[in-house]
Amino acid sequence: MIPGPFSYHRPATLADAVNLLSTLGDEARPLAGGHSLVPMMKLRLASPEHLVDLHGVAGLKGIRRDGNNIVIGAMTTQHDLLASEDIGKSLPILHETALLIADPQVRYRGTIGGNVANGDPGNDMPAVMMCLGATYHVIGQGGERRIAARDFYQGAYFTALETGNVLTAVRIPMPPAGHGYAYEKLKRKIGDYATAAAAVVLTLSGGKVATCSIGLTNVAETPLWAEEAAKILVGSSLDAATVKKAVAAAEAITAPASDARGPAQYRTKMAGVMLARALERAKARASG
Ligand SMILES: Cc1cc2nc3c(=O)[nH]c(=O)nc-3n(C[C@H](O)[C@H](O)[C@H](O)COP(=O)(O)OP(=O)(O)OC[C@H]3O[C@@H](n4cnc5c(N)ncnc54)[C@H](O)[C@@H]3O)c2cc1C
Repeated sequence: MIPGPFSYHRPATLADAVNLLSTLGDEARPLAGGHSLVPMMKLRLASPEHLVDLHGVAGLKGIRRDGNNIVIGAMTTQHDLLASEDIGKSLPILHETALLIADPQVRYRGTIGGNVANGDPGNDMPAVMMCLGATYHVIGQGGERRIAARDFYQGAYFTALETGNVLTAVRIPMPPAGHGYAYEKLKRKIGDYATAAAAVVLTLSGGKVATCSIGLTNVAETPLWAEEAAKILVGSSLDAATVKKAVAAAEAITAPASDARGPAQYRTKMAGVMLARALERAKARASG
């Protein structure tokens, strides 16, 4: 339970953070809330020689509007999301998801940037970001890149981030007023990662689904965007037969590991159950 030796760096500007991370190379890691990285270090599953703490870097925290988007600074904590009136009103699925992450202690430290950059398929925010069509702002020595959440995740703990990169913000297009949403998460106990979870955002028009997007958590090496399942639902009234087809399409793209949360087949089925529940709640919340 004791991490290996490391040097601690606390840059004050983004340029300094990027310079440090680029110069120190693969042996350096950004440190945000530390609630994924530090436990991994204590278990010796990660042994970075340098930690570059982002807490002193100006401009990485806060929630702002940019046109029809909400831009959330990477160092904004899950607690900050829960405390934001704007998030509660405009992006209530983020509020709902943040509340399902761990416990208040973790949420006070854990950041949105760390949650989406970590690449752990058990993290809850990535599937929600895919569902919402979010984009990540990433800065490195070559300048800024904007990467769609749907293109970001490449494997367990493998993302589009390169050595020397800092994820600075998450940009989320605001779903239309009156949209329905839900994040359904099955977990063994409070503070646990998902056995399976599903995020849904949809709009209705004349009682029929006009748009729909679905994300799935912890049922593959990466978070999943269930595009085919959502397409099946568009134009339907979310009747039982169509929901069943969509659930089958979502289950078909899962490939969970068998682990302490259950055998793979069970976790796939639970992804389907979470999706059906999320669709029902999203429908009840949508107007139109
Ligand atoms: C008991 C417990 C229960 C938990 N349960 C859940 C849960 O149910 N759901 C869930 O989603 N999470 C859960 N977590 C994880 C928690 O949400 C973490 O806070 C989160 O995964 C990582 O955020 P962080 O700010 O702590 O990042 P850190 O731990 O500091 O960093 C995580 C990784 O991301 C990298 N990183 C961090 N910030 C950046 C950045 N801006 N740019 C580039 N790379 C960056 C780091 O180098 C590191 O590799 C739990 C944690 C604990 C301790």
